[in-house]
Amino acid sequence: MQIIYNSALGKKQELIPARSGQVSIYLCGPTVQSDPHIGHIRSAVAFDIIVRWLEFCGNKIIYIRNITDINDKIFQVAQQKKSSWWEISSKYSNAFRDAYKALGCLDPSYEPLASAHINQMIDLIDKILQAGKAYIAKDGIYFDTVAYKDYGILTNQTNDKGLADEEDFSEYKKNPRDFALWKFSAEASQKAFPAFSSPWGEGRPGWHLECSAMAKTYLGETFDIHGGGLDLRFPHHENEQAQSKSVGWGFAKSWLHTAWVTQKGAKMSKSLGNGLLVKDILQKTSPLVLRFALGSPHYRSQIEWEEKSIENSQNALSAITGFVSNYNFSKNNINKSCKVSVDEEFCEAMNDDFNVPLALSVIYKQIKNFSNLENKTYQNKLGQIIFTELNILGFNPLEFANSKNNQSSADKKTHKILDILITEYLNKRSEAKKDKNFAKADAIRQKLVSAGIFIEDKSNGEQIWKI
Ligand SMILES: [Zn+2]
Repeated sequence: MQIIYNSALGKKQELIPARSGQVSIYLCGPTVQSDPHIGHIRSAVAFDIIVRWLEFCGNKIIYIRNITDINDKIFQVAQQKKSSWWEISSKYSNAFRDAYKALGCLDPSYEPLASAHINQMIDLIDKILQAGKAYIAKDGIYFDTVAYKDYGILTNQTNDKGLADEEDFSEYKKNPRDFALWKFSAEASQKAFPAFSSPWGEGRPGWHLECSAMAKTYLGETFDIHGGGLDLRFPHHENEQAQSKSVGWGFAKSWLHTAWVTQKGAKMSKSLGNGLLVKDILQKTSPLVLRFALGSPHYRSQIEWEEKSIENSQNALSAITGFVSNYNFSKNNINKSCKVSVDEEFCEAMNDDFNVPLALSVIYKQIKNFSNLENKTYQNKLGQIIFTELNILGFNPLEFANSKNNQSSADKKTHKILDILITEYLNKRSEAKKDKNFAKADAIRQKLVSAGIFIEDKSNGEQIWKI
């Protein structure tokens, strides 16, 4: 029995899919206005693990992760840079796709672009107007939060009349809580601010509309899980739900929200200047280590990012990389059935709202037992179980190296494998230095140098290797 924490109810409940044997998931993807930072990418990593697990348990998964390629934030960047909106959104869509791939996130079933669903959005506005839940004002069409009685129900704020969507400020709105479904074009430059045709005049959709339209297109009127970062709960998710339910669609049966990545307690974001870019971190560390740092805490726990975060992940991964480098296994032997091929405790942990930290503790215990087992048959079987579990979490260094190899040149492939191995040595060297065991640290360095690997020590303690 799969238990999930439905954040709309604030409690755990059983996941009962709308269609038996199939789980439909909509995850709000990125607004592509800048390079991805680790706060952006966390929910994709968390959902990658959720999807892998649900699929492993025999469900057919339809997983949608959209790309918001039309949004006022993107248009403003285009205007500032004297560029076109499509140039900005293409550039950063690619950056996000690269980051997802680098961190081992499997492709979603579909990755729809908002700009390709203008017709569906116009149809939805028409339906909302016909239902009497929207009105046409001088500068756009607004959702009428007074006419829709359940507004605020998702975030438990039905009585809060002061709620307002700050990004949708307009003097023509009837109520501060009302939000734009369509914004009439007022800007001169269509290069930066697109103007799409609609029955009500040229303009562009409000942000929230796209997810309602795309979820309906790919998952139907009712689907199982809607996900996103915690910051999207209000107003974005509240507004999505209001739009969809106002026309009689069932919309999401459960909501899963991933917690923030913070630095010194503040949410990571570009505007705060503390957004650590994925590409910068990957210059210094391997994608597996970053994936582990973002994916190993429970998805509902806040990750406080600090200088030691990468080092902590490296240390926590060392038992896993050690096990993998010492073990030879055949992928063909892995049994796909949940009950047979993974440990019962691992299964229980994942079934209980995807408790990755607990599932990992099972793996560490198994790795310890593995080296103590004398019976080779038992040992081989346990080895396969551990590999299967690592694959479910996406923490298998081999799978990681392989998936990178598929998209890279032969040189990059070799580099990746070397990086995993050399990083092991460098971590041991750091530990030896910390313990003031300089003879050991020096011996490790000598070993690498004699193999033709040059080590550069940076002033911040970082070690860069080159051949
Ligand atoms: Zn959304």
